[in-house]
Amino acid sequence: MTVVGFDDTDSRERGMCTTYVATQVAERLRRERAPEGSAARTDDSSATTGGSAATDPIARILLVRLNPAVEYKTRGNAALAIHTDCDPDQAFDIARDCLESLAETDDERTNPGLVVADHDADPNSIPEDVATFAQRAIRDHLEPADAVARCQRHGYRTWHAGTGRGRIGALAAIGSWRALSEWTYEQIVYRQSDRWGTDREVDHESVFAAAEDGYPDVWDTVDRGEDETVCVPHTPGPILYGIRGDDPRAVRTTADHIESEPVAESQLFVTNQGTDVHLQAGSIAAARDGRSYRLEGRVATEPETRRGGHVFVDLVSTDDETAAEAGGEPSPRLTCAAFEPTKRFRDRVRALRVGDRLTVCGEIADGTLKLEKFAVRELVTTERVTPTCPDCERRMESAGRDQGYRCRDCGTSAAEKATVPLERDLEVGWYEVPPCARRHIATPLIRGGFDAPIHPER
Ligand code: ATP
Repeated sequence: MTVVGFDDTDSRERGMCTTYVATQVAERLRRERAPEGSAARTDDSSATTGGSAATDPIARILLVRLNPAVEYKTRGNAALAIHTDCDPDQAFDIARDCLESLAETDDERTNPGLVVADHDADPNSIPEDVATFAQRAIRDHLEPADAVARCQRHGYRTWHAGTGRGRIGALAAIGSWRALSEWTYEQIVYRQSDRWGTDREVDHESVFAAAEDGYPDVWDTVDRGEDETVCVPHTPGPILYGIRGDDPRAVRTTADHIESEPVAESQLFVTNQGTDVHLQAGSIAAARDGRSYRLEGRVATEPETRRGGHVFVDLVSTDDETAAEAGGEPSPRLTCAAFEPTKRFRDRVRALRVGDRLTVCGEIADGTLKLEKFAVRELVTTERVTPTCPDCERRMESAGRDQGYRCRDCGTSAAEKATVPLERDLEVGWYEVPPCARRHIATPLIRGGFDAPIHPER
């Protein structure tokens, strides 16, 4: 199997999109494949390949989301890999030709990279260090030199323009087939090129109807709370809409049921979207900027809404709670944020109270964790309040420092604050940002597999 990995072809201002480049490379491979190629298909159905004929030389196209915190990304930090039975030299020439003509290299921040490998169809034939590289590209920060060294070691063909930073994503896309075990699907539908940059014509009602029919096999198609068609991008590029889900047939059916302007082409991608593979286990003390974590902690401050509608709350580590209680070092703290675009999720964060025990997930930037989802593990259900007088039922007053409380009118007193039940708007379990604020790589709760009850947004 020939694996054609590439990345970094698009520009924020000029449009383009690496998935579109992939469809063009795949199309040419289908047209120009050298006749001696053997069957590439490893899946038993064209529904999982995006191909149409039994002899399709394209086995699948991977759309791999890498570390969302990488500063060089244009938007969603996507890298692509085409699995094909085409001759590697021919595949390399065709891919280079497409990248040279389609990549927006006039933008100095576009630095395309191409890597072509020749392996067996078995994912385990991809070298372990290439798989490790993919895993690190999703969770960490890498240098182009590291990619180049690995390509040389394994005799991979490479091409690049500009700084060639794109070779990081290209190699990671190749390694991902071995590194990752969980895959989802996206059916991407493209616009006719003369319409690029103009307003998209997609029938709002038909998107909502198709999304309803496909749910929960397809997800993040719309945001019902915001009445937004999340699957339709706002950027100037070639994508008309993209339908994501767990089942390749379901994403295609949902895509087919949407009424829109004329469609140029449609391609299925196998992807790590919606899998949370960017999250690593960690501790509040050790969490570093530019990485995404799953962390345990206890709410340490009342949630605060700041200018712009962003909500902040501090967490204190629960890792060494016993030591801290025994008078040891104070536990490390971390500020968590639900920014304005996360919309109704902010109400969930505002509902937190000091003492709640949580698992929080998100990327750390400037020392703050940008919340993607959190699990309530333990809710505080009582609070300590100034006692009320048993006779007149009015609130007592402080009797002086360390002297408890008393009612001046009735002469009653209490030694300390009273414990009363606290009404809570949250339950134990997982809460998430709504579809309109979802990161490509983040798992929607509806996909399941979580370790507590879920409260999905749709
Ligand atoms: P789009 O989503 O519109 O396709 P993008 O967000 O994928 O664009 P790119 O244009 O591909 O962004 O730019 C990302 C760049 O960062 C690529 O050159 C890629 O090789 C590089 N890169 C990806 N992951 C890492 C990483 N973990 N460390 C360092 N560089 C990385």
